[in-house]
Order: sequence, then structure tokens, then C-alpha cells
Amino acid sequence: MDYDLVIIGAGPTGLFAAYYAGFRGLSMAVVDSLPEPGGQVTAMYPEKMIYDVGGFAAIRGRDLVQGLVDQAAPWHPAYLLGRKAEKLETVGDRVELTLDGGDVLSAGAVLITAGIGEFTPRPLPAGDGWLGRGMVHFVPSLQVHAGQHVVVVGGGDSAFDWCLALHPVAASVTLVHRRGKFRAAESIVRQVRELGVPLVTDAEVTRFVESPSGALEGVEVSVKGGEDLSLPANAVVAALGFTADLGPIESWGLEIDHRAITVDSTMATARPRVYAAGDVAHYPGKVKLIATGFGEAATAVNNIAVALDPDAHLFPGHSSNAE
Ligand SMILES: Cc1cc2nc3c(=O)[nH]c(=O)nc-3n(C[C@H](O)[C@H](O)[C@H](O)COP(=O)(O)OP(=O)(O)OC[C@H]3O[C@@H](n4cnc5c(N)ncnc54)[C@H](O)[C@@H]3O)c2cc1C
Repeated sequence: MDYDLVIIGAGPTGLFAAYYAGFRGLSMAVVDSLPEPGGQVTAMYPEKMIYDVGGFAAIRGRDLVQGLVDQAAPWHPAYLLGRKAEKLETVGDRVELTLDGGDVLSAGAVLITAGIGEFTPRPLPAGDGWLGRGMVHFVPSLQVHAGQHVVVVGGGDSAFDWCLALHPVAASVTLVHRRGKFRAAESIVRQVRELGVPLVTDAEVTRFVESPSGALEGVEVSVKGGEDLSLPANAVVAALGFTADLGPIESWGLEIDHRAITVDSTMATARPRVYAAGDVAHYPGKVKLIATGFGEAATAVNNIAVALDPDAHLFPGHSSNAE
């Protein structure tokens, strides 16, 4: 539990920072409250193509995240996923970070790459108690749903993205939405309709049906002004959106402006040995993009390397010269 650097947030910025920390010879842990790496990309748009990441004319969100994980892997980051950073304290020249559950990480420096904060999925009341037993809020691996009957609940872009992505692998995909109109872009709704995915509107999932073995085998759906439906379902994707909140980070004595942490040009915050980068970092002229997060991660980690070892060079050397 002793590291040179603890990174809070395994979004694109935190993952790239993990690579850079390894390149600088720093030991590191990466903490994220989500069970999978990738931050907003994994939670909200893993199947979308991204067109503004340097070096890729187009890259699917999921592939970008995998590339970042692969890039950091040689340095063996310790991933603490599904864990929330709750308390930050300075103890001598160390920073101590307390996670939910009480574990304490000790670090020479902390880099906060917490994006727009911790995500809380909007709940599907009928699915109470089914999370992880058949209900998910996002789909880390499409293959898990190969051959399954999947019901997707929601009417936004994510719900339709999941329908498109799951259709080739699942036995069936059905979308259930409680309104008659969708929030999702018209083009993606059209694509899903063209695939023949049933779109059940003005409808709500009212009950999850359990098989004798305790597995999910179906859902009951109440349709406004129509007959109730029973749909086969081995999995329900509750894609009702997320709320995001900086939560405990706001009480760490940092300067917060517009729900982001004020940093200087080295990405240092108002607290010694605490840095921030990516969407969560704020300075005049800030642009919140993956590309800017990558640059800020490199700036932060190289400055952290010097803060930890004043004899170290700020410039890391060119990676193209590394073995
Ligand atoms: C639909 C959509 C499409 C987008 N398209 C593009 C695009 O085409 N190009 C582009 O450049 N950008 C795009 N963006 C923006 C881009 O996704 C963000 O700029 C990027 O994800 C920021 O990365 P990050 O690592 O700084 O933060 P995030 O991706 O937000 O990751 C932060 C991580 O920190 C974790 N976290 C927060 N608080 C805690 C805590 N207390 N303890 C533990 N973990 C915590 C969160 O769980 C999260 O995983 C898009 C965003 C959305 C929503």
C-alpha cells in the first residue's frame, strides 16, 4: 500500500498517467470507483468512434481504452477498481489516501484524474437487488452476452449504442423505453430500427422474473394503454444515464472552480504533492478533451518525478530512445 504515485481515476487521463509514471520509474496505484477502467469512455460511449485522438483517424472508445491499458501494462500498475477515494491527508512528506472500506494508501504524490467525478447510474427500480445477477448498467464485454436474450432499458444514445453492439452477438435484443419519443440521435435510432430490434415504447419494466435456479429468465413489462408483456431476458442493461459528482474530493481543501480543481502550469493544486489533470483540472483556457488530458498527464507526472526527486530531470527523455 506504499507507492510513489497514487492516481485517482482510471479514465483516459489516469491510464495515460500510469504509463508515464512507469516510464519515469515510479511505482503506482490507480484507484477507480467503477469496476472497469476507461472512465466516461467505458461508461458512456465504448462503442462510439472517436475522431480527435492524435494518431488515430478513427478509433472505437473500447479500443482506445484497451490500448491505454496495454500501454501502461509493462509498468504493472496496481489497479484498485470498484474502490472510491474518500479522504486525503498530508502526513510529513507523504500523502495518505483512504479508500471506502478503510484501506489507506501512502504515496509520495497523488494525481487526481477524477474527470467529472464518481458516476452513479440512475436506478431501475424493478431491478433492485439484481445488479450483478443479470442486470448491468454498462457492458464491459460483449462476449458475456453471446447467445443471451437481452433487454435494454432507456431511450438515450447509450441505450441505442448497446442495442447496435449487442445485436450481432445476442440471441435477441429488445429495447424498452418509458416514453414514446427517444432522446437518442435520429441516425442511431434509424440504424437500430433497420436491424429489426423491437422498440417497446410507453412501457416500463415492472418485474424481474427468477428461474428456479435463481437466475434471471425474463422481465415483465407494463405498456401504457396496452397489454402487459413478458419478455425472455438473461440480461437487462439499465441504460438510464448517470449522475456525476466530485463528492468527497470537494472536501479535500483544494481550490474548486466550476466543479473542477484549479491547477498551475505544472498541474499542481493548492496542496503540496497533490496534482490534477484531465477533465477535473481547471485553468484559464481549459478545453476538456481526451487529447488535452493526455498532455496534462505527461506534464503532471514529469513534474511529480521532480517533486519526488529534485535531482531528476523534468524532461523525461524521448520514449523512442528507450529500450
Ligand atoms: C458521450 C460523450 C462523448 C464524448 N466524445 C469525445 C470525443 O469524441 N473526443 C474527446 O476528446 N472527448 C470526448 N468526450 C469527453 C471525454 O470522454 C472526456 O474528456 C474524458 O473521458 C476525460 O477523461 P478523464 O480521464 O479526465 O476523466 P473521466 O473519463 O471522467 O474518468 C474519471 C474517472 O475517475 C473516477 N473517479 C471519480 N471520482 C473518484 C473517486 N472519488 N474515487 C475513485 N474514482 C473516482 C470515475 O469513476 C472515472 O472513471 C466525450 C464525452 C461523452 C460523455
